[in-house]
Amino acid sequence: MTTAPDRSRPAPRPGVLDIAPYVPGKSKGTGKTLYKLSSNETPLGPSPAAVAAYTACAEHLELYPDGASTALREAIADVHGLNPDRIVCGAGSDEVLNLLAQAYLCPGDEAIHTEHGFLVYPIATRAAGGVPVVAPEKDLTADIDAILERVTDRTRIVFLANPNNPTGTYLPFDEIRRLHAGLPGNVILVLDAAYAEFVQKNDYEAGIELVGSAENVVMTRTFSKVYGLAALRVGWVYGPAAIIDAVNRIRGPFNLGAPSIAAGVAAIRDRAFTEAAVEHNARWLPWLTAELEKLGLKVTPSVGNFILIHFPDAPGRTAAEADAYLLSEGIVLRRVDNYGLADALRMTVGSEEANRATVAAIAAFLEQTER
Ligand SMILES: *Cc1c(COP(=O)(O)O)cnc(C)c1O
Repeated sequence: MTTAPDRSRPAPRPGVLDIAPYVPGKSKGTGKTLYKLSSNETPLGPSPAAVAAYTACAEHLELYPDGASTALREAIADVHGLNPDRIVCGAGSDEVLNLLAQAYLCPGDEAIHTEHGFLVYPIATRAAGGVPVVAPEKDLTADIDAILERVTDRTRIVFLANPNNPTGTYLPFDEIRRLHAGLPGNVILVLDAAYAEFVQKNDYEAGIELVGSAENVVMTRTFSKVYGLAALRVGWVYGPAAIIDAVNRIRGPFNLGAPSIAAGVAAIRDRAFTEAAVEHNARWLPWLTAELEKLGLKVTPSVGNFILIHFPDAPGRTAAEADAYLLSEGIVLRRVDNYGLADALRMTVGSEEANRATVAAIAAFLEQTER
């Protein structure tokens, strides 16, 4: 016996109403906003070449863009030494992650992500009718054994951000290889390398070689972070031919706007500007970590363009109270309660001025409760 369908009103497919909507970083303080350090945006802005390419598109907004994003795929392929046919561009890597879930999850299929993993993964999974499965982490770092233990006959995707947001931690590539070796061939390993450009570790790889040698690994990347094009929504996936073919079949035929394609090409070709952004981060990430540790705070070691700052569980000194204080000073960091990290705030590496002002404000916050 099946129950009669409810014909009185439209109902979204099962799973949709289980989605906890994504909460973006706040963009305003409670008074005048001086520094927005809540969304891992670059303090250097976009390359001037990208701005010029974007502006040049204004003359011909009546024209559809190139639906295959050919120029952008070729520029990406050129810079990274890839085959452009193995790349699909998306409206941010968010779109690409959702397309992968839509293409590969049947209702009831499982997609694994880690305890403090990026919250787009469970949203993309549920939106496709799948079931998100959470693997616990160790020391705020993905745990390969915990992921492998959660693989079942229903598993179709493992989403792994390396480095991860919001923790900033990463896995060395021999661990990623071990994860891949333990997965069945029909499970796609999605390596989300949104912060790869910032990582300065000899044992780190974004995943290009593994994608090239396996049928079930893809790497996603974004123009939102080091390239400073978050407003334009540009991301991409590099993968095996069969997965690229599936994603191309379901994506919107014109999923990137012409200004996004043009600005992306100019941004990735401006290597000097990109290097300056990476150098800025390499200078200020350790500075921020050291200065905050001097204040007695715990900072999770990060390889990205942000840090996770832990506050004491003491009245007047908590992360929530620090957040309120900083907002009143016009400094916007990111609460990460919804990532299971209620004791912490995530801070994007900002301009020199923003970094110094934030450390000074946190020092003042801690001092006022010391008396
Ligand atoms: C910022 C970020 C992205 C990029 O998302 P876009 O949609 O490309 O802006 C992807 N993954 C992680 C883990 C991120 O933090």
